[in-house]
Amino acid sequence: MSIDVSVIMCVQVSLNLSNNRLSSVPEDLGALSSLRELFLQYNTLTHLPDSIGDLHHLTELDVKNNQLEEIPASIGRLRKLVVLNVTNNCLPSLPTSIGRLAGLEELGLHSNQLTELPDEICNLTSLKVMYGGENRLKGLPVRFGRLTQLQELDVSGCELETLPQSLSRCVSLIRLWLSNNRLQTLPVHIGDLQQLKELHVRNNRLCYLPASVDTLHLYTFTAQNNRFVDEVTASEMCYAPTEGVAPLMELAARAALDSNLEWDTPSLPTSLREMLSSPGRCSVCEGPFFNYNSSVVTFKTVGVFYRLPLCLSLCTPRIEHSGQP
Ligand SMILES: [Zn+2]
Repeated sequence: MSIDVSVIMCVQVSLNLSNNRLSSVPEDLGALSSLRELFLQYNTLTHLPDSIGDLHHLTELDVKNNQLEEIPASIGRLRKLVVLNVTNNCLPSLPTSIGRLAGLEELGLHSNQLTELPDEICNLTSLKVMYGGENRLKGLPVRFGRLTQLQELDVSGCELETLPQSLSRCVSLIRLWLSNNRLQTLPVHIGDLQQLKELHVRNNRLCYLPASVDTLHLYTFTAQNNRFVDEVTASEMCYAPTEGVAPLMELAARAALDSNLEWDTPSLPTSLREMLSSPGRCSVCEGPFFNYNSSVVTFKTVGVFYRLPLCLSLCTPRIEHSGQP
């Protein structure tokens, strides 16, 4: 079934064409320039016309439950868009132009084929909710922490192995869904999310949680089906270096990382390059460490029911330190 734009030119503000078995919308859709809201959900659309970028007054676009394989780059021109819902489509990627939707507050990406989010998504600094669960995401962009207005983030049911440390800067987060992924660690400073009330990390590969989890004030917390270490293993994980001073190679590697040196060059010794490729992060000062650090694992009750291993990783042999050695 298809429609003729001339029939609906009289529409001023809101157009609802949901549940109509539409397989396409007219290429001249953009002629409806006064449109504020466009609802196309529950159809069989496989693409949207480029002219959708001409709907300059659009504040809400809902195309959930279609068969979209692509979002046109022209969507970046919808500068007034506040709500974008592309849930339950077949999208393998998002256009980088999405980063220009500076006023976007709600983004529904749930149930697509996304393997990554474009870095430009970190420019959506007005974003309050992002539902990105049930995709094939392997990670989140490194600068994700720029989304300081974000209150709800769902990335459950993906293929996440790590999260960017910067996630702990999304300080407005109230609800965070991370269940059903492949996470082995959580960001060291997740305890900085002091607004967080709900945290779900079920069905991951976590051996322990960062010690900062203990400072959260959670109402709801789920953590079943992980690989949490028992008390015996945990006690074996506690260690401290025997030398009082870090080796020169360790200090060189920390300095190289701190100075943003271009380290992946043949001019550096191979052993130093290998070290630089996998830094740890100190639980206290957030500084990098490599071979020289200490670790303390304790058991605490998190939420109401769980007694879980919490791990404190330190760039020095001691907990009391104000910075790097
Ligand atoms: Zn430190």
